[in-house]
Amino acid sequence: MNKPIMKGKVFLMGAGPGDPDLLTVQAVRILRSAEVVLHDHLVAPAILDLIPAWTQVRNVGKRCGSAGISQEQIHSLLISAAREGHQVVRLKGGDPLLFGRVGEEMEALSRAGIDFEVVPGVTSAMGAAAAAKIPLTDRRFASKLVFMSNHSAGQTNTNWEDVTSPDATHIVYMPGPNYAEIGAKLSAGGLDGRTPCVIVTHATQPEQQIRRTTLRELALELSLPAPALLIVGEVARPLPPLQDDEKASSRKASEPHEEILHLTDAPAKSEIIA
Ligand code: SAH
Repeated sequence: MNKPIMKGKVFLMGAGPGDPDLLTVQAVRILRSAEVVLHDHLVAPAILDLIPAWTQVRNVGKRCGSAGISQEQIHSLLISAAREGHQVVRLKGGDPLLFGRVGEEMEALSRAGIDFEVVPGVTSAMGAAAAAKIPLTDRRFASKLVFMSNHSAGQTNTNWEDVTSPDATHIVYMPGPNYAEIGAKLSAGGLDGRTPCVIVTHATQPEQQIRRTTLRELALELSLPAPALLIVGEVARPLPPLQDDEKASSRKASEPHEEILHLTDAPAKSEIIA
């Protein structure tokens, strides 16, 4: 039997929320020399563009609802590519350790005796919070940060009462289309209807949208594109507007007036204030 000269290895890698500038230096270095890349559906096209033309690339992502490739098939692909001696990247959106099936992949690799490493990524929550300028643990309003998913092993009826709190910032991954149901679950956990909410879709990508609302009005958020992330808590309240006297002095300091308004009022990416 021909034994490979190179020992294969799998890198469980985070691609970040979409902007290639948010990839880690380590991720870019490994991606550039990868021989096989198996990526999720969420990985942004701008990231896939960085993969060399000679690399074997396969989308093994599951779109919501569609069967696609099974988790066991993904394990087999990872194991066989590594056994052939390849440097294999398993590329996932955001950080690989959060809300994906990386635990099952690590177990399968470990059981098969395959060498693997985790390459962290910027989770979409951090990309979204940065885009919407939300100070997630502002000490005046929040002493806890809860990362939660609206899907747990395929179920959406997760109970949040034990983790919901007025002094927490809640970040809901995989909110799905039913914001009314999410609003009801958070309210049942004791949050006030006026609690600020921000939804960021396609965070850090050219199509990014930011919507600001309140828990009471959350049900009105219909048909937002995926991927979307919901941030709920006092920290998500809009920043104070420039006050009239400050406006006047900033105008005096830096004429012409229209140009300043243009620069501050026109974000590079769309910001919809609901
Ligand atoms: N490992 C990923 C999360 C995977 S779960 C991470 O760390 O971000 C998939 C969910 O992540 C999506 O349903 C969505 O809620 C969120 N998500 C991923 N990329 C996103 C993006 N660019 N903008 C907004 N939400 C995103």
